[in-house]
Amino acid sequence: MSTPQYFQKGFGLKTVVGPVLAQNYASAVVEKLKNLGYEARVGELTLKLAREFGFCYGVDRAVEYAYETREQFPDRRIFLSGEIIHNPDVNGRIERLGIRLLPGAKDPRVRYAEVEQADVVILPAFGVPVGEMEHLRGKGCVLVDTTCGSVLNVWKNVHKYAREGFTAVIHGKHHHEETKATASQALTHEGGHYLCVRDREQATLVCDFIRGRATAGAILARFADAISPGFDPDRDLLRVGLANQTTMLMSESLEIQEMLRQAMRERFGEDGLRERFRAFDTICSATQDRQDAVQKMLAAGGLDVMIVIGGYNSSNTQALARICADELPTWHIRGPEGLEGAALRHRPVGVHSSESFVDAWLPQGPVTVGLTAGASTPNNVVGEVVQKILALRGHTVDELAAV
Ligand code: SF4
Repeated sequence: MSTPQYFQKGFGLKTVVGPVLAQNYASAVVEKLKNLGYEARVGELTLKLAREFGFCYGVDRAVEYAYETREQFPDRRIFLSGEIIHNPDVNGRIERLGIRLLPGAKDPRVRYAEVEQADVVILPAFGVPVGEMEHLRGKGCVLVDTTCGSVLNVWKNVHKYAREGFTAVIHGKHHHEETKATASQALTHEGGHYLCVRDREQATLVCDFIRGRATAGAILARFADAISPGFDPDRDLLRVGLANQTTMLMSESLEIQEMLRQAMRERFGEDGLRERFRAFDTICSATQDRQDAVQKMLAAGGLDVMIVIGGYNSSNTQALARICADELPTWHIRGPEGLEGAALRHRPVGVHSSESFVDAWLPQGPVTVGLTAGASTPNNVVGEVVQKILALRGHTVDELAAV
């Protein structure tokens, strides 16, 4: 009997890897904060933690499968097709298990050049494009696919759009792994096409084109990197179906959906709209829960400053930071290493620039600091950040008390 080469449901080793995962990623500090009602105080410092934050079900599962894979194949070379999730702490720990992260080359022949039949390749929670998958299957190596069920659901819908003659308009970052994988699903049916819009501004241009106020040339120039090969705006924007990268800002996704619906209605009328427009909500529930929790926290008021923890390239962390930055001073940090004495290294919110530095971010006197973390941030990272903030005021976790 030949060995199965494709695994999608783990290896049933949860009891073996569970204690290791808990040791690596759990945090007594976070547990204490939760037990104190997600809000605690010491001296003039109050800390508030969002009710939903950190690891989502998809990331939990992907990380667990990576550890299980190491157990299952102790003697084989194991590769990860890029980062398993967008968190440097987690990727570092996985690399220390002896799992190698492959470079992010566009061409699968380059990316997987080293991989041989006897090797194991782990595919990340956000999935890989169809072409990469075919290339890997051709190699005959063992594949451990951790693609999240919520991402698979988006793929299913995008594939359906293509089959029914709709172009997938994807609210997402065209260079993000998940969006690249999702877009590739539109090409699995003959004549399928996609266009990725990043934000309202880009959606406005697409709407202008639909209304006849922008040229096909303007679309092709603006979206050169974000459309399917051979995309013809005059042909491919007559019937559109909306989809999202699962981790985008929910409010923006809904707004873009409405903008496109309105533009299609104006051009084709109510009857035409029914024939030519499809939409469904593909923001995953974990992303939505984290965004809802932070909005609730902001609505309750009383916060002076917000710390959002997550990889700089983590889309859902960026979305959380954008929500907070609309209301109060917000710092997006990668983890505890971002806090250097009184200073802080951070990614400026909503700006596509590299890291920035601020000398003194914590106001003097009584202060309430809000905390949340993206879906790829483990609790141990959150806990270490809390400890560093407390240390800034000369306190420890043991002193924290309920408000
Ligand atoms: S953010 Fe959502 S789609 Fe992405 S891995 Fe987590 S649960 Fe899955």
